[in-house]
Amino acid sequence: MSDILSPRAIMDKLVGFPTVSRDSNLDLIDWVDTYLTAQGITCHRHYNEDGDKAALFAHVGPDVEGGLALSGHTDVVPVDGQPWTSDPWTVTERDGRLYGRGCTDMKGFDALAIWALVEAHHNGVARPLQLALSYDEEIGCTGAPPLIEAMTAKLPKASAAIIGEPSTLRAVTGHKGSQGFHTRVVGFEVHSSLMHTGVNAIMEAAKLIVWANERNAENRARTPSTLAAMFDPPWTTCHVGEIEGGTAHNITAKHCWLGMDFRVVPGDSLSDWKDAYLTRVREIEADMQAVRPETHIEITKRYEVPGLQPEQDGEAEALARALTGDNGNHVVSYGTEAGHFQNAGYSAVVCGPGDIAQAHQPDEYITVEQFEAGHDFMRRLLTRLKEG
Ligand SMILES: [Zn+2]
Repeated sequence: MSDILSPRAIMDKLVGFPTVSRDSNLDLIDWVDTYLTAQGITCHRHYNEDGDKAALFAHVGPDVEGGLALSGHTDVVPVDGQPWTSDPWTVTERDGRLYGRGCTDMKGFDALAIWALVEAHHNGVARPLQLALSYDEEIGCTGAPPLIEAMTAKLPKASAAIIGEPSTLRAVTGHKGSQGFHTRVVGFEVHSSLMHTGVNAIMEAAKLIVWANERNAENRARTPSTLAAMFDPPWTTCHVGEIEGGTAHNITAKHCWLGMDFRVVPGDSLSDWKDAYLTRVREIEADMQAVRPETHIEITKRYEVPGLQPEQDGEAEALARALTGDNGNHVVSYGTEAGHFQNAGYSAVVCGPGDIAQAHQPDEYITVEQFEAGHDFMRRLLTRLKEG
């Protein structure tokens, strides 16, 4: 058996791998696999289609269902163009803070979860503990569904999952669901003096933006449900954050694309909003084709992050509350993998050390105090798992 590492030593190691979402995470996964295997823990992997990224999952304790899964992502956002005071890929301690890309989002939690798994393995637990490390979280949580599928196929299914995104160790029980569509409008070019004989892709795309503005006004005017009222804003939003198109002021634009995103409150469904959007797209397309049959609108889904619905007497929530002493009600505006776990039948809660305000920033850090609090959280968790 090789040396057992402290959470801090594990975090130093993990931050040292520059696992930006666009790049491979295999060096990190290899390291975790080697470390856990040396401790006597069996690791499983699930590779992405290209084979350049992998999720890793493992189970310790009795070979039964009903355990607890600790979920974290291994990828981080880029550091390009950000002014960093010290090397982002080396954990550097200054003034009670641990600086480094991913320290708070979320290699700090990953390190604590790996530490807890090893402790659980060596000291024994009555209830199983599982580790689930994903890839591609930062580009739309797309790595979580295949990981959960592989994990439930291979391991006895856990009943609850703690998703350790930075929440300053508060129990977060809800977040909005979101989805985004790349929308490409293909028009027909003519001289703008004869615009009625062409189809201007920009002006057609503008109709979709008008549609979004109208939906926002409608949603805002509605009285929110009790659950929706917990969110800020308490309504579903439709947002266009990117648009590009056209070639010259006197040509009806042949191309225009825009990014249409939805953030839906509990009670609204992502698929209903998708249908509503597609209905409007098809109406506009029909009008376009009445002028020029070769015109069209292409829609590609960029991502879908299901919402985390607050549970009635949720097991994960109760556990997080017992471990943190937090009795407040918290929902957050950022998306996480928790909704995917919940959809797959796990009770799910978001609870991890560090502050989301530091995530994705230059000089990202976690305070030593929060990291230590995370360590205490894991110690209390191990005590509970030992009791069963
Ligand atoms: Zn994260």
